[in-house]
Amino acid sequence: MVCPEQKVVLITGCSSGIGLKMAVMLAKDKKKRYHVIATMRDLKQKDKLVEAAGDAHGKTLSLAVLDVCSDESVKQCIDGIKDRHVDILINNAGIGLVGPVESIPIEEMKRVFETNFFGVIRMIKEVMPEMKRRRGGHIIVVSSVMGLQGVAFNDVYSASKFAMEGFCESLAIQLFKFNVTLSMIEPGPVHTEFEVKMIQDMGQKEFPGTDPDTLHSFKDLYLPTAVNIFEGYGQSPEEVARCTKKVIESSRPRFRNLTNSLYSPIVALKYADETGTLSIRTIYHMLYNLGPLLHVCATAMKYLTCGCLRRRTVSPN
Ligand code: NAD
Repeated sequence: MVCPEQKVVLITGCSSGIGLKMAVMLAKDKKKRYHVIATMRDLKQKDKLVEAAGDAHGKTLSLAVLDVCSDESVKQCIDGIKDRHVDILINNAGIGLVGPVESIPIEEMKRVFETNFFGVIRMIKEVMPEMKRRRGGHIIVVSSVMGLQGVAFNDVYSASKFAMEGFCESLAIQLFKFNVTLSMIEPGPVHTEFEVKMIQDMGQKEFPGTDPDTLHSFKDLYLPTAVNIFEGYGQSPEEVARCTKKVIESSRPRFRNLTNSLYSPIVALKYADETGTLSIRTIYHMLYNLGPLLHVCATAMKYLTCGCLRRRTVSPN
């Protein structure tokens, strides 16, 4: 039962990771300001969420089925909400894809775009008209640092997030007129199933059609560096959820919201050199020449920066 003073928050992809933590954090808000509709493709996956939500389940948190890749599922879910009224839509569901481009079938690439790009658009198309009519609402999209800066062997995933950034940047201008806010959440690495799936997949996969040099770069340079980066720079899903709650509760929410201050310099490089050369060369050296040092650097950076880079990010604290 939703109280009239509560904001209705719909979150996609709540069976694990960031979505689960966001759902629980908002549902357990001390002032009970939110009613969370936590959605997932299959309610058989609800146990972790229900356990973490505790008493909030059935009070400030309800569950619903939603597959962002299905028009019918999205429509059914929104039709099931009283007056189709959603105050805050959090587009969190997403999938990753890592590997040499030549080894990835086009169908697999399309699946990433179907979820990360068209999945978000499907949700926005269903919820936005009512927000425009009411002249109010907040749409949040969980993007990634890789939606701002490309990283080797993440070409397709990064492209799906860049596409989302471009779509939302355009839409935000139009929505401004209707008092509907759009915000991007841009995490760096986060310790969730995402990371686990990536490491598991890489152990099992073969990479047909990839030349030995590229395979060496991927397996012996990129993958160990990626593991180091996750270990050294990774945030917890709680931190990302806390950043998102801050964005929701801000009186003037920003459009772009990096959640990890350690990534500010990488994004700054992009704006410092509009030719793109500086970013490409720097990331090349980080991956291929400085890989083993990155873990040490990451730990040192955490202590050294100690919050002084946070002005450019939404600090979770
Ligand atoms: P996760 O795998 O734990 O969560 C993703 C969720 O999306 C899962 O619950 C999954 O079931 C759901 N999902 C996938 N396809 C779906 C579909 N068609 N319909 C509905 N739900 C679907 O990983 P996470 O890290 O919590 O990812 C959440 C978001 O954060 C994603 O958009 C991801 O791109 C983004 N992100 C993650 C990281 C990271 O390092 N983990 C970094 C930056 C951005």
